[in-house]
Amino acid sequence: MTATPPDRPIGTDLDIPRLNEQLEGWPAEDILAWAWATLGPDVAVSSSFQTQSVPLLYLVSQVCPEMPVIFVDTGFHFPETLAFRDELQARYNLNIVVARPAIEKSQMLQQYGEGLYRRDPDLCCYLHKVEPMQRAIAGLRGWISGVRRDQTAHRATLRVIEAQPGRPLKIHPLLNWTRRDLWRFINAHDLPAHPLFAQGYLSVGCAPCTRPVTPGEDERAGRWEGADKTECGLHVDLIDPSADGQERLEREDGRTRER
Ligand code: SF4
Repeated sequence: MTATPPDRPIGTDLDIPRLNEQLEGWPAEDILAWAWATLGPDVAVSSSFQTQSVPLLYLVSQVCPEMPVIFVDTGFHFPETLAFRDELQARYNLNIVVARPAIEKSQMLQQYGEGLYRRDPDLCCYLHKVEPMQRAIAGLRGWISGVRRDQTAHRATLRVIEAQPGRPLKIHPLLNWTRRDLWRFINAHDLPAHPLFAQGYLSVGCAPCTRPVTPGEDERAGRWEGADKTECGLHVDLIDPSADGQERLEREDGRTRER
């Protein structure tokens, strides 16, 4: 460890701006260690189990192996993603917690029909990713994710710690990593790649909404192709105090039914 932990205890009196000043320059493993020491066991990391996820999962296995790793099983994942998740669990002894949508697939098809991900990907992501994640993090004090500032315009605006009333602190240990940093780490530690990575899937989400990218394309160019969408909502809605999940569902639901 190279950093000195903040001297204020976690709680309602947390000085988030000051914490952000301190943690901004910390190595990822120190931020993880701080989060576990300060918020554990009420802190979890979420992961989509793609190639880019492996460095954070590896660090969790080294720094805080008991930390729960939340995986949202949307029901639309590539079988290769599920196999990779199981491989990583076995290799790094991860404490994986699987979160599933409240809505059954049959109910979803009855209510919204086939191809909701094409007609209304925001609603589909809400039902299959955001809602189960909201339940998975309920009661936690901290939620860690591997987002980086260089990934999207929205992510470029984030701080290491994002605080929202009534929700766990959102903690981003890799926020300052670049894609190059990620690959240096993967190569230095000889970490495994998602089985589809070699086929051009640099960023892997649900199968219907992911295509491989061609050389020179942005790593997330293959996500939600043709839709004006760059985020599933996990790292936007859940930190937006104006976005209430239920209101959003009702609004989106009404919009879908009107079609
Ligand atoms: S990524 Fe696609 S299939 Fe997966 S939840 Fe979002 S819209 Fe639905």
